[in-house]
Amino acid sequence: MRLILLGPPGVGKGTQARRLAEYFTIPQVATGDMLRDHIRDKTDLGQQAQSIMARGKLVPDDVILAMVEARLREQDALDGFILDGFPRTVPQGVGLTAILERLSVTLDAIVSVTVHSDIVLSRLSSRRTCTQCNAVYNLVIHPPRVLGVCDACGGTQLIQREDDRPETIRKRLDVYYEQTFPLLAYYQSTGLIREVPGDGTIDEVFQLILASLPEESIRA
Ligand code: AMP
Repeated sequence: MRLILLGPPGVGKGTQARRLAEYFTIPQVATGDMLRDHIRDKTDLGQQAQSIMARGKLVPDDVILAMVEARLREQDALDGFILDGFPRTVPQGVGLTAILERLSVTLDAIVSVTVHSDIVLSRLSSRRTCTQCNAVYNLVIHPPRVLGVCDACGGTQLIQREDDRPETIRKRLDVYYEQTFPLLAYYQSTGLIREVPGDGTIDEVFQLILASLPEESIRA
């Protein structure tokens, strides 16, 4: 299964990508998580990305494309992957097409998760992220079982991301509509786009995504 999850920040892409990755036993390739790992590990790339991310802007396309291509060439991604937060611009979409050609693979579906922007704002404000494993919680609708402790890895640093503050959330939504939304037009002619409403529960949205996927790719 080779899948892109598209949608505005806060629509639940990360949560759904994680579940799909477990379901299909393939990696979740989340560029935001990869960049945060670089920041945590204080790499050159992390230092370059940090201030851009804190402002809610996008890291340059060439940097992202090189990082993604290296990741997709790793052994565990050869049989499939869930792309989460990438591509985010039309040039990244064009770059991804070239990467997939070099790898001699094709996409199975592009799932576009939609939700009203009021819901996005409230979801992102109550989001908490584990600094250790990038698991995502929502203090209102999906809190961890023990307050302040990550269900997935036991980490105790569940933080509000710097870019999940209201001013930056608005900037990220603007960036989404200006730079990422046009990808839907770029992919329109492929016939791969599946629109899924993201305002149900985590389980409901997951079932809708599964039901939207082409049957032959689920069996493969
Ligand atoms: P996310 O975790 O997907 O919400 O991403 C957090 C931030 O990381 C974004 O606001 C961008 O600054 C940066 N980022 C993540 N993915 C990309 C990408 N594909 N292209 C450019 N910047 C990205």
